[in-house]
Amino acid sequence: MILEHPLTDDERAFLERVATFARDQVMPHADQWDHDEILPREIFTRAGEIGMMGMVAPKEFGGGGMSNVTAALAIKELGKAYAALAMDIAAHNALSVGQINRFGSDEQKQKYLPRLTSGEWIGAWALTEPNAGSDTGGIETKANAHEDHWHVDGLKKFITSGRTADLLVVMATTGRTDKGKNEISAFIMMKDQVTPVRKIHTYGMRASDTAELRFENAKAELLGERGRGREQALSVLDRGRIGIAALAVGIAEASFERANSYANERKQFGHAIGDFQAVQWMLVDSAMELEAAEVLTMHAAYLQDQGETTTKESAMAKLFASESAVKICDRSMQIHGGYGYSRDLPVERYLRDAKLCEIGEGTSQVQRLVIARHVLKEAKPLKLAHREPREPNR
Ligand SMILES: Cc1cc2nc3c(=O)[nH]c(=O)nc-3n(C[C@H](O)[C@H](O)[C@H](O)COP(=O)(O)OP(=O)(O)OC[C@H]3O[C@@H](n4cnc5c(N)ncnc54)[C@H](O)[C@@H]3O)c2cc1C
Repeated sequence: MILEHPLTDDERAFLERVATFARDQVMPHADQWDHDEILPREIFTRAGEIGMMGMVAPKEFGGGGMSNVTAALAIKELGKAYAALAMDIAAHNALSVGQINRFGSDEQKQKYLPRLTSGEWIGAWALTEPNAGSDTGGIETKANAHEDHWHVDGLKKFITSGRTADLLVVMATTGRTDKGKNEISAFIMMKDQVTPVRKIHTYGMRASDTAELRFENAKAELLGERGRGREQALSVLDRGRIGIAALAVGIAEASFERANSYANERKQFGHAIGDFQAVQWMLVDSAMELEAAEVLTMHAAYLQDQGETTTKESAMAKLFASESAVKICDRSMQIHGGYGYSRDLPVERYLRDAKLCEIGEGTSQVQRLVIARHVLKEAKPLKLAHREPREPNR
């Protein structure tokens, strides 16, 4: 760990359990799961048994009540072993569990959280649609009030754990605002209301159940206040993006460690390739970016733990960590030469998986937009609008 955040004994014990789980129960199967493009349901049950399915959620709802720093360290550790599983677990924690925990009624929390935090249920989070990706305000899925519940109709795209989830948090429009924009509300929906359309086969994160879903008159219950769905979603994304940053750091670290060892061991021209400056410089850039990415990620998680709003810091962590991860994984492949490009090693998988981190939970371009808004607002007025012209010294 780069930043020495104070962790409780319970958190340290938890991280040891995560490391053992990742090493013994995940890493040996990662290549096979990636090849088969499926994760066994039992692996989520086991993740639940060690406390990974409700890391930050309060203990009274079966969660671990742990810090966001601990959760980020756990996702990083699991991300080193198999990124697709770590991504599913990160999304479950930060998005579906996170949104119910923060905005649900006491009754909803009592009813749904214990089964999600124990790992009995998997949660999914559905915002993206065919015509609404970065532009979240443009969603077309509609919800209509019907006696004591709501009926939802529409299509959702790229939903992590979409077909396998037992419960979904779904964003849908419930009318128009005074300004003529979509009024967006959040809903809780059970699996039996969802029509799975298909698994979307992806470049990386192949074992993750990325799905297209249809809702036809699907029964759902309102989550939080009507019309606050977009604000809720953006607020849970502040934590979600820290999870993606931690995941990117995990993938990058696994890839870097392999490349570093390989540079010491692989010999060409009578030397370890690590003796060549060209290879050293690739390793140096990777080591430096990895460290910076981890610092930004843990800093954002730490600020969340202090109760701060981290929209800018989360976006910075996600942007820097994901773009660094892609560069680091690309350099690792280069250092491995043809072996890195082959499917005999997980080096090519790391690169494929890292790429998702630049897209999911908001693309790099969207992170830049978010950061730009904050940075520009923070600008201080200049004391001297114009400098007096000076004659140069001759
Ligand atoms: C594996 C995977 C898992 C996912 N899981 C989930 C999930 O669980 N739940 C969920 O709701 N969604 C999920 N998503 C969807 C993901 O969040 C979106 O793909 C992402 O937000 C981008 O939306 P889009 O794909 O529609 O791209 P678009 O929004 O169409 O963007 C296309 C390109 O245009 C750029 N662009 C768009 N608008 C702007 C702008 N204003 N300025 C500059 N550039 C811009 C983008 O950066 C991008 O390069 C997942 C996606 C993937 C691939």
